[in-house]
Amino acid sequence: LSENDAIEDHLITVCVRKRPLNKKEINRKEVDVITIPSKNQLIVHEPKNKVDLTKYLENQLFRFDYAFDETCSNEMVYRYTAQPLIKTIFEGGFATCFAYGQTGSGKTHTMGGDFNGKTQDCQKGIYAMAAADVFRLANSPKYRALNLVVSSSFFEIYSGKVFDLLNNKAKLRILEDGKQQVQVVGLTEKVVSTTDEVLKLIQKGNQARTSGQTFANSNSSRSHAVFQIYLRSNNNMAKIHGKFSLIDLAGNERGADTSSANRQTRMEGAEINKSLLALKECIRALGRKGAHLPFRVSKLTQVLRDSFVGSNSRTCMIAMISPGVNSCEHSLNTLRYADRVKEL
Ligand code: ADP
Ligand code: MG
Repeated sequence: LSENDAIEDHLITVCVRKRPLNKKEINRKEVDVITIPSKNQLIVHEPKNKVDLTKYLENQLFRFDYAFDETCSNEMVYRYTAQPLIKTIFEGGFATCFAYGQTGSGKTHTMGGDFNGKTQDCQKGIYAMAAADVFRLANSPKYRALNLVVSSSFFEIYSGKVFDLLNNKAKLRILEDGKQQVQVVGLTEKVVSTTDEVLKLIQKGNQARTSGQTFANSNSSRSHAVFQIYLRSNNNMAKIHGKFSLIDLAGNERGADTSSANRQTRMEGAEINKSLLALKECIRALGRKGAHLPFRVSKLTQVLRDSFVGSNSRTCMIAMISPGVNSCEHSLNTLRYADRVKEL
């Protein structure tokens, strides 16, 4: 990949990222069934049985704007996904970037980063890298005269309810006014001016997100996390100049929990399924005038409404893939979803 490959003018960019096999998968001797033969192609080698029970691999090819293999860093992924969207918000538009995929595929690693982890490969995520670029541009000769103030919010949508990750998970209400403007009432919005401040917010939000959870009952895999960067003009803070929404979506396998024996789990599964389907429709309608969009179907699409209807809105989806053979079915589901998002 070279710098010139960044797609600057797409309304919708759809990419795929494959993570390396992890220790557990290696210990189980799981085979890697994903190959990335070129910078925009990915092949799933799915094991199948013939009628006579002999085994064979069925190869399925998918094409995206970019395919990132297991050697790509967060920085590399950022450069071709969220970074080209930064200028949109300075030009008064809305940008969104979604991480989609099954639990454990690398959504949080990519978006929030692993900077407080114990391993050597601790890396900043897209939230922090986007904020750093926003600060840089806000102070650049080109945009300095706009006198923009940068601020951030971080919330979670869990089972159709909104919780403020920067305020002890306070439950928040959504209000829609007569002009269909959507507001998250009382959402904490912190003015920020350095990457360090942003990293602290991310850490605080991530701690709130995962506190009180056990692995078996992990709420974070069932919630969408929304990190937003706002640009407001110094002399009219009430009006948003531009906004970047960065979303770590709920594990898409959770959308299939609709036949669970547990009623709560079933309801959450249905809610996740509904929101991911509505999201797909809303993204596909970007740039198509007069399309009827199912915003109100889910809280996720409702709170992101302005990002889809604006005349200057751009979006990017990163589909995350776990490479192991045991994840094959989930990976195929993820790739098919991403495929439909990209079709216009
Ligand atoms: P998700 O948020 O999709 O459930 P995570 O981001 O928590 O998944 O990733 C699961 C584990 O895999 C984490 O320990 C994370 O650090 C690791 N991981 C994910 N993606 C990568 C990658 N590209 N390189 C190295 N480790 C990764
Ligand atoms: Mg996660």
